[in-house]
Amino acid sequence: MYPPDFTYVRVNSVDEATKFLDSQDDARPLAGGQSLIPMLKLRVISPNYIVDLNPIKDLSYVRSGFNSTKIGALTRYYEVLKNDTIKINVPLLYQAVRLVGDMQVRNLGTIGGSVGNADPSSDVPTVLTALDAEIVLTSSSGSRSVKALDFFKGAFTTDVKKGELITEIVLPNLEGYYTTYKKVVRRAGDYALVSLALAIKMKGRDIEDIRLAYAGVSDKPFRPIEVEKGAIGKSLDDSLIEDIVSKVSSQVNPPSDTRGSSWYRKEVMKVITRKALKEVMG
Ligand SMILES: Cc1cc2nc3c(=O)[nH]c(=O)nc-3n(C[C@H](O)[C@H](O)[C@H](O)COP(=O)(O)OP(=O)(O)OC[C@H]3O[C@@H](n4cnc5c(N)ncnc54)[C@H](O)[C@@H]3O)c2cc1C
Repeated sequence: MYPPDFTYVRVNSVDEATKFLDSQDDARPLAGGQSLIPMLKLRVISPNYIVDLNPIKDLSYVRSGFNSTKIGALTRYYEVLKNDTIKINVPLLYQAVRLVGDMQVRNLGTIGGSVGNADPSSDVPTVLTALDAEIVLTSSSGSRSVKALDFFKGAFTTDVKKGELITEIVLPNLEGYYTTYKKVVRRAGDYALVSLALAIKMKGRDIEDIRLAYAGVSDKPFRPIEVEKGAIGKSLDDSLIEDIVSKVSSQVNPPSDTRGSSWYRKEVMKVITRKALKEVMG
């Protein structure tokens, strides 16, 4: 499989990249290439220009502050995994990134690339949606931040506008939360059939805050906000768990594809929701 012809452009700074992206109608940034190169080879896309971001070294970083952790868009999965402050401040991201693809994918794939790709079965967008993370977009006229919930518009569709580059992800440091990432795959190293990112804060046996986000059940990460609101202040017991399980699964109509049928995805969604919440009870 050969990609269609394109012009390869190497850029050395965010400024250079955004100016070029702004000047062309059909240019695509290249980060780790783990999704872009297969899409080119399969001729799903055929852009005129591929803009290689890899020389921009200052887009790769993890900066930990008091309230939030900032991750540069070009930070690779393996860099996230070896960063101790992420393990402490944003354990949910660590738990999910451990399960992305295989070692080769984690060595090259980037956080910004996963966000830009917006595959509805991917792991990082689901975590960002659960955590209310912000995605920083930079263009030649400045920067803006978009909440993950507003950023993912549909399958492979985001809020990135012409001439914009994803430059940073800002994740809140959730203090006192229990987090877990549950992912069911058909084969080791595969995308999620269904996955759940859960962050929950308890006060004794009562739920003080809860965030649930799912991959693989919709055309973008699914966050059942109303179900979350209904659970806050209630005691976490078997009957509440069954109530949450039934409500979240009744709100989705997952796709049927080669990984699994719509019915099966819903069943998996119920099982992992129940399992994650029982873990919290335990
Ligand atoms: C075998 C295999 C298994 C995989 N398994 C999983 C899995 O289990 N879970 C999972 O979540 N993912 C999985 N992936 C996908 C992987 O996570 C990709 O690395 C990721 O989707 C894209 O990251 P990338 O850095 O390679 O981006 P690229 O492939 O370079 O780019 C992806 C898209 O994002 C755009 N883009 C990249 N950077 C930016 C930027 N800074 N600003 C704006 N747009 C940008 C590109 O133009 C392109 O459209 C798998 C991939 C492979 C090949």
